Amino acid sequence: MIFEPQFETMPREKLDALQLERLQRIVAYLRERVPLYRERLDGIPEIRSLEDLRSFPFTRKADLRDTYPFGLFAVPRQECVRLHASSGTTGKPIVVAYTRDDVDLFARVNARVLAMAGGEPGMVLHNAYGYGLFTGGLGLHYGGERLGMTVVPVSGGMTERQLGLIEDLCPDVITCTPSYALTLAQAFAERGVTPDEISLRFACVGAEPWTESMRAEIDAGLGIRATNIYGLSEIIGPGVSNECVEARKGSHVNEDHFLPEIVDPESGEPLPDGEQGVLVFTTLTKQALPLLRYWTGDITSLDREPCACGRTLARMALIAGRTDDMLIVRGVNVYPTQVEAMLLQVPELTPHYRLVVTREGTLDEVEVEVEVSESYSDAAAGGLESDTRRPLEDRVEKLIRETIGTSMRVTLLAPGDGPRSEGGKLARVDDRRRLA
Ligand SMILES: [Zn+2]
Repeated sequence: MIFEPQFETMPREKLDALQLERLQRIVAYLRERVPLYRERLDGIPEIRSLEDLRSFPFTRKADLRDTYPFGLFAVPRQECVRLHASSGTTGKPIVVAYTRDDVDLFARVNARVLAMAGGEPGMVLHNAYGYGLFTGGLGLHYGGERLGMTVVPVSGGMTERQLGLIEDLCPDVITCTPSYALTLAQAFAERGVTPDEISLRFACVGAEPWTESMRAEIDAGLGIRATNIYGLSEIIGPGVSNECVEARKGSHVNEDHFLPEIVDPESGEPLPDGEQGVLVFTTLTKQALPLLRYWTGDITSLDREPCACGRTLARMALIAGRTDDMLIVRGVNVYPTQVEAMLLQVPELTPHYRLVVTREGTLDEVEVEVEVSESYSDAAAGGLESDTRRPLEDRVEKLIRETIGTSMRVTLLAPGDGPRSEGGKLARVDDRRRLA
C-alpha cells in the first residue's frame, strides 16, 4: 500500500512546483531566523527555480558541531518538544531538535517507509532499533503507530528474548540493522527453527552499509523480503528514504520534504541522474532545524525513472561508500565498501579484509589482504601455500579489475589472520603513501 498517495505518486511537474514553493519559503525562513544562514546567504539572490539552489553554499557537519548545542535552531528551544543526538566519533555529539509539527512529520515519513517495506495497518511490527538518543527506535515506533500497526518496542540486544518475542507475538515486519537481522537468522537456525516457521514477512533494515549478498542471506535466513531504509539524524532520522518491496531497486526519497542532489565529491558541482557522487539534502518543511544543502558524505546516485510500485519519488542506490573513506588510486575514486561488496560475492572469502596503499615511484599500488573461509582452508588442507592459492587470487584480481575498474594485488590470509574490530571503528585502509 501507499500511505500518502497524493504526494508519493504526484506527477513530476507538480512535485517540482511543490518543491520550489517550499524551497522559497524555507530559504526566507532561514534568512530571517538563523544567524549563520543570514550571513552566508547575504548577497545571494532569491530562489526563482530549483536550479538556483546550486548557488547556495553547503552546510556541513562541522557547522552543527561549531554551533553546538542549539546554535542552528530556527525556533526558540522552548518550542522544541524533543531532542535527539548522534554520537560523534570524535568530540561533541550533534544535537537535533523537533517541534510538535516536526514530530508529526517524523511519524508520517516513517509510516510511508514502513508501507514501502510491505507494512500494512493491522500488522505487528517488531522494532529492534535502539531507543534513546539515537533516532532509529523512536522514529520507526511512531511511524508504525501512525500506519496503524501494533508496535513492539523491543529495542536492540538480548537476542534470546527477541527470538522468544518473535515466536510468541508473531510479528509480520521487523526493523533492525542488517547485521542484526543476520544474527537473528543464525540464532533461529541454531535453535532448529526453519525460515518458514518464522512469522516475519518483511524487514526494513539499514543504519549501516550493506550489500546485495547480505540481502540474499537475510531473505533466505528469515524467509522474508528485506528492503533498505536510509536516514540520518541531521535530516530527520529514519524516514528519509526506503526501497519499495515491489521493485527493491533504489530507495524512494520522500522528496516533497527532503530535496536530494548528487554532487561531485571534489568540485561540489551537481551531477546528472545515474552518476555517482555525494548525496546532499535540503529539508523543505522542518521547523526546528531546517538545513540547506547538507553534505551527507554518503556516495550514491539518483534515478527518476518511473517505478513499478507507482511512486514518482526519485530513488537512490544503496550507499556505495563515504567521502571520508574515499581513496584516489591512480586517479580513480575507490571506496572500501565497493571492494567489500565484491569480496562478499566470493564464497571462499570472508568479510575480514584490509586495503594497503603504497606508492612505488609515481605509481599507486593497492594490496587487498583478505582472509579465506574456514571451509576453504580445510578443503585446501591448510593449503594456502599450495597450488590452489594463486588461481583464487587471480580470479579475485580479475573480478576487482572488471567491477571497480582499477587493478589491485590480492593476498590471501589464513582464517583468523585478518583485521578484526576491537570495539572501535575498524580501519579498513592502511594508506602508506603519505609516509613516503
Ligand atoms: Zn517503487
